[in-house]
Amino acid sequence: MPPNLRVAARYRAATRATGIRREGVPVVVIGAGPYGLATAARLSASGVRLRIFGEPMQGWHTHMPEGMFLKSVPAASSISAPEPGYGFADFRAAQGSGPVGDLYPIPVEEFIGYGRWFQERRVPEVERSMVRGVQAVDGGFGITLDSGEEFLAAAVVVSTGLVPFAHEPRELRHLAAAGLTSHTCEHRNLTRFEGQRVAVLGAGQSALETAALLNEAGAHPTLVARAPAVVFGDPPQTDTPSARRRSTRLYKPGSALGPGWSLLAVSRGAAAYRHLPTPVRVRLLHTVLGPSGAWWLRERVAGRFPVLSGRTVRSAVPEDGTVRLELTDTGGGTELVRAEHLLMATGYRVDVDRLGLLEPTLRQAVQTFGGAPRLSAGFESSVPGLYFTGLAAAPSFGPVLRFVCGTGFAARQLAAGLAARNR
Ligand SMILES: Cc1cc2nc3c(=O)[nH]c(=O)nc-3n(C[C@H](O)[C@H](O)[C@H](O)COP(=O)(O)OP(=O)(O)OC[C@H]3O[C@@H](n4cnc5c(N)ncnc54)[C@H](O)[C@@H]3O)c2cc1C
Repeated sequence: MPPNLRVAARYRAATRATGIRREGVPVVVIGAGPYGLATAARLSASGVRLRIFGEPMQGWHTHMPEGMFLKSVPAASSISAPEPGYGFADFRAAQGSGPVGDLYPIPVEEFIGYGRWFQERRVPEVERSMVRGVQAVDGGFGITLDSGEEFLAAAVVVSTGLVPFAHEPRELRHLAAAGLTSHTCEHRNLTRFEGQRVAVLGAGQSALETAALLNEAGAHPTLVARAPAVVFGDPPQTDTPSARRRSTRLYKPGSALGPGWSLLAVSRGAAAYRHLPTPVRVRLLHTVLGPSGAWWLRERVAGRFPVLSGRTVRSAVPEDGTVRLELTDTGGGTELVRAEHLLMATGYRVDVDRLGLLEPTLRQAVQTFGGAPRLSAGFESSVPGLYFTGLAAAPSFGPVLRFVCGTGFAARQLAAGLAARNR
């Protein structure tokens, strides 16, 4: 039997085998981060009955370091709502804080407060249970919660965020068992590394900011980056983009992702992005907004701790409770770095297979490209009624889906897709 038919047969068998109680919830949204909240707000406003599960803003308060600042500017850091009054600026006004512009890096604690404020006002129905499993049942989905409750849903929106996709290079996995490595998403509080040597792998914002925070927490970081040099953005010329010189605005127009024509194209052209050939999409996803630090990080990094750029890890071995890294540089030279811990700021890679909450036959029924779900214009996967949003949708719709500023496009498209399906 050809593989696609085998999968379909297993899928039907799983559907028949379950005895889940039928209770007709039209839509289940899994996840209460910016994407899940924006989706739920939009669907509720359209009169769609739904249940939404997750811990509001958990990705931000559990999987990002205390003391972090957002790289996105305030104007690009609002969770989308179907009506005005729920943006980041509205939150600040409600707190009695004044307006802020591009020169204001948002502290992560303030952003978490904003997300919870949004949730309490706009999506109060969030249920703080976790979804343990989703399986295909007679053209719908059987949902099992960690409380043991089971029910049937007609459609499911997966918005479980970044953490399931944390990428750890295969060649370093053997160190994890000895507790010598971890991914940056595993740490909220970096003070546990005080006094220790920590090698930080990566060259993006997360790597640079984690290394800066480690240094400020009394640890001894060494940044190891494959990139030939670490790069920082330029400070905005003015606090408000409209106050920039006209010639500058023409040369580098402003966008939600930052100034420049290519950023403007991907931030406004998410719908068109899906029609680009797959290799082009994959390349753009990795090259547009390549690894760099925010302008305000430069003085917290430069000259504060060793930055070894243009280095590749040749080997990493445990030795007397430390990790011994052998690095090679572009000229073929080698050097050794020893550290009590190796922190991987190696990003996130979408792979449906890593979404353990989807039962295996359901996962296999989702058509993918490079591990990512193939999505319709309405964010629906090849399994009717199964939707993906947030980072999982970025390979289809482009880099804007990696950021909070993509919540408006995603929620609108998804709501329209669901409405069309119901018709
Ligand atoms: C270090 C770092 C810095 C970043 N800085 C910025 C920035 O400055 N600006 C910006 O726009 N973006 C930034 N991002 C990206 C940002 O995190 C994402 O754009 C955004 O959080 C994605 O929202 P989300 O709702 O998809 O996922 P998340 O915010 O990760 O939320 C996931 C939700 O899913 C829930 N969940 C997970 N599993 C289950 C389950 N089984 N059952 C029920 N619920 C579940 C969680 O409880 C949580 O509510 C940053 C990311 C990182 C890692």
